[in-house]
Amino acid sequence: MLKSALYIVPTPIGNLEDITLRAINVLKSATLIAAEDTRHSKILLDHLGIAGVKLISCHDHNEDERASIIIDEVKAGGIVALISDAGSPLINDPGYRVVSHCAKEGVDVVPLPGPCALITALEGAALPTDKFMFQGFFPVKEKELEETLRKLSCVDYTAVFYETPRRILATMEMVAKILPEHPVSLCRELTKTFESFYRMKAKEVPEFLKADSDRTRGEFVVAIGSLPQEGGEIDENVEEALKLLIKDTKVKLACQALSLVCDVKRNDLYSLALRLKEDHDL
Ligand code: SAM
Repeated sequence: MLKSALYIVPTPIGNLEDITLRAINVLKSATLIAAEDTRHSKILLDHLGIAGVKLISCHDHNEDERASIIIDEVKAGGIVALISDAGSPLINDPGYRVVSHCAKEGVDVVPLPGPCALITALEGAALPTDKFMFQGFFPVKEKELEETLRKLSCVDYTAVFYETPRRILATMEMVAKILPEHPVSLCRELTKTFESFYRMKAKEVPEFLKADSDRTRGEFVVAIGSLPQEGGEIDENVEEALKLLIKDTKVKLACQALSLVCDVKRNDLYSLALRLKEDHDL
């Protein structure tokens, strides 16, 4: 017997077999299902043999209003399931505002583990997974995209983005321009018939995609790996300049400024700054 609560229920991202027994049980027990697109979710519910349950929409444009209906239902003893069109709700999908209203009202929220394109992609990308950052969809504006990518040039984690088939080639052309040597993995059509992982250096991707139009079809997750950080010797002039700067400036700002004018990684400057502060009592 399920307790009365709001359940966050992940649904398949392509392969209809990817739904947990617990997710099916929650959907079958629900007194109300809030779905991003009710017509879309009806196909899944029909497939699971779930009929007659009250179904309401809950999307970016009505989340706040739907939150109060959901809260009333749970407070009245109901079981509410929140689902999105595919994958985990809240992950680049609606749901955050509903969950946050529930938390404020003291309504129980029970998130279920399950399908998510981000995690599925990471599992097959063959890039380090010990440290990663998910950044949602790539920025659409060229300048923002360029800035976002420049920031990745010296990070030590795998960056993961979602992208649409319409934009994948243009986006990867920019990735190739800004981060040519970085390893990337294009994870396409995950869990579906044409699931593919294209793993290569960023600079090789545009030609690879252009060679066959099928390669730009479908849904994409793009993972960008980091390059090994070169921990070279720091010139004594740089060390002297850093010592002067941290006397009167915050360490972070001093390292940021200095890394713009000398060829040393910000993280290396930061470690040196901390050591200098300690050694020289700055
Ligand atoms: N909530 C979903 C999740 O848990 O992954 C993501 C929803 S977001 C609006 C949709 C984007 O996720 C797509 O444009 C694509 O980038 C990615 N995506 C979803 N399903 C995918 C799949 N089967 N293969 C590759 N990428 C997928």
